Amino acid sequence: MQLIYDKDYNYRLGLLQYLHPFEGEKFSQVLSMVNDLGLSVISPNSMVSEETIDEYLNELMRLKVRNKEFVFRALEVPKIPFISFNYLHKKILKPMRLAVAGTLLGAERALDSGGVMWNLSGGFHHASYQFMQGFCIYNDIAIAHQQLIKNGRLSTDDKVLIIDVDAHHGNGNAFSFREQTNVHLLDVYNEDIYPLSGFTREQVDFPVPLTSGTLGEEYLARLSSALELTDSDYALAFIVAGTDVLAEDKLGGLGLSVEDVAAREKMILEHLQKHKIPAVVTGGGGYSKQSAKAVSAAIRACASL
Ligand SMILES: [Zn+2]
Repeated sequence: MQLIYDKDYNYRLGLLQYLHPFEGEKFSQVLSMVNDLGLSVISPNSMVSEETIDEYLNELMRLKVRNKEFVFRALEVPKIPFISFNYLHKKILKPMRLAVAGTLLGAERALDSGGVMWNLSGGFHHASYQFMQGFCIYNDIAIAHQQLIKNGRLSTDDKVLIIDVDAHHGNGNAFSFREQTNVHLLDVYNEDIYPLSGFTREQVDFPVPLTSGTLGEEYLARLSSALELTDSDYALAFIVAGTDVLAEDKLGGLGLSVEDVAAREKMILEHLQKHKIPAVVTGGGGYSKQSAKAVSAAIRACASL
């Protein structure tokens, strides 16, 4: 297993951080917590280009991602008149575009090695080519998938599995891939919270809707059953490993512990390894103080894979 990280993944928000419950330096915290494992860490080096993003977005979205009002709304921060688009771009959009490049790099390396690549950022599962919301601007998994097909690394006949274990339903992935029958989505989510879209929930191939307050034991049992329903011949798997499932998280509404999160990632990656499916883990959401601790515990649990 290799980690994908860049120091510029971190959101250095300055005063903006008081307007959002996001721990902007989470990625560097995780890295320092797993330093002793001696895992190799690679960087995407440069962010994904505007052309690559534009190739994925529809016409209206190409305009919206360059418009301060729409970007503010998607980031769920109040409108601040004196902040320019360039400032937002530098502080938030650039790190996100670097994360998109990280997910693409992870997918390429996972296909090369057949193993596990762990991108500390990415997993922007509320974005698609047609909308951006929930602190997600660019859908890294969909953009990576499109580029892999364009570059001949995957064909449209290749089956791909997305395992989304963030507390929120991955409406962006469900929408993006709804017509691609070879891309399957397993989604474990709190059905009582955002996003409540019935249309995208119906697109999930292996849905695991949970109610608020679900604890680790039930969560892991339901995930295990769902994994057994998936096929064994996927060419690649993406995981959206959000840590907003933690009991401390104010947004997710679930009751997992740090140990449960580590057991979850281990269960998923062991399942994929059993079937020799290359895997790319992406960060997903996670806004509590415990988030970095949970991610580092999960990496520790999976370090030998
Ligand atoms: Zn989430």
